[in-house]
Amino acid sequence: MERAHSHGELATQAELSKFTFEGIRVPLLDRQRGIRKPAILDAALSFRTTFTPPGQSPPYEDREGQDGLLRYKYRGDNPNHPENIALRRAYEHDLPLIWFVGVAPGVYLPRYPVWLVADERKELQFAVALDEDQKLIEPGTFLEPDRRRYVERLTKLRLHQPLFRARVLQAYGASCSVCQLRHSSLLEAAHIIPDGQPRGEPIVPNGLSLCKIHHATFDQGILGIRPDHVVEVRKDILAEVDGPMLRHGIQEMHGRLISLPRDRAARPDRDRLEVRYEQFRKAA
Ligand SMILES: [Zn+2]
Repeated sequence: MERAHSHGELATQAELSKFTFEGIRVPLLDRQRGIRKPAILDAALSFRTTFTPPGQSPPYEDREGQDGLLRYKYRGDNPNHPENIALRRAYEHDLPLIWFVGVAPGVYLPRYPVWLVADERKELQFAVALDEDQKLIEPGTFLEPDRRRYVERLTKLRLHQPLFRARVLQAYGASCSVCQLRHSSLLEAAHIIPDGQPRGEPIVPNGLSLCKIHHATFDQGILGIRPDHVVEVRKDILAEVDGPMLRHGIQEMHGRLISLPRDRAARPDRDRLEVRYEQFRKAA
């Protein structure tokens, strides 16, 4: 948990339940319930999406509608469940909410502020705007492809990319899998198969936790990772003579094994590593 906390914006269940406001304890997240409404307020303060381990499907699918906006499913199928009413109040009064998205059991990435912009009772869900620009979208409308791409790009920026980074860093214990650097502000989540290519999804088995230098060398084909997890540095780079960064930071990585997540389901997918390694080999 300490480790999770050290990679920046993440919050743990324990921290969230100890939150105080003007001397009053106001837990920001409820241990049992997905939607948090403190007794002192009449609207919800936060809602959450629980963590789904890699390789399992989430219990509720929070999908995008034709308007490009994400949907958050009601608690159960009764629109008048107290938790759904608390969220509806926040929707009716246009109140900002915190969305806690699960990164690991009991560890969350908070997104704030977000707004509920439609209450869709038939579908038992709310439409969520992740920022001021998404708030301008009329929920339920069919968007022109250009506009829709823009809305989806915002979702990627505000939610999918930070979530990918948080989940990958969490899986690798917040260290670079090549050099073991543990300075979280210098760590990034690299795609094994690049974003936008087939199978380039932002999921943990398509990710590697890498420091900025090793991310850049991996992306530029200076460093490759074999499907058996051995690091290879391109031949011409191995022959170069330069200062300590080249020598210790890059050349000495040649032949080392990358570190892997303890959780097998979070480990890099072998087929994807193979595809990427082939590209590295051909370019070299
Ligand atoms: Zn590194």
